[in-house]
Amino acid sequence: MEETLFDRIIARELPADIVFENDQVVAFRDINPQAPVHVLVVPRTRMQSIAEASKHSPEVLGAFVQGIAETAQTLGLEENGYRVVFNTGKDALQTVPYIHAHILGGRRLAWPPG
Ligand code: 5GP
Repeated sequence: MEETLFDRIIARELPADIVFENDQVVAFRDINPQAPVHVLVVPRTRMQSIAEASKHSPEVLGAFVQGIAETAQTLGLEENGYRVVFNTGKDALQTVPYIHAHILGGRRLAWPPG
């Protein structure tokens, strides 16, 4: 698999504003934020999108979800809430072929998204 931007951020080959990490996930601020808080959470185990989730263990997937929740907690988003988005494939405008959860918060969000 070709190296992506997020492989390089995880490897510290590219700079990023990392807000949370543990042995399973890395979370960093989106370079083009769409909300006052906009953070991307990626698992250290590479997968292209959520469409590949069934190929991975419940341990890896569970740790990813826990990492998303811990990141939101670290960012102080628990009280007012937040949104988690997985853009998947071309209709959803996924641009980086490495799974990433967008955490969006810090203001009241519109629904449905465009
Ligand atoms: P996607 O559209 O694939 O769901 O989201 C990819 C996200 O990565 C976009 O929100 C985009 O702003 C963000 N992004 C693209 N390049 C960089 C970068 O170099 N650093 C960071 N931190 N985020 C990036």
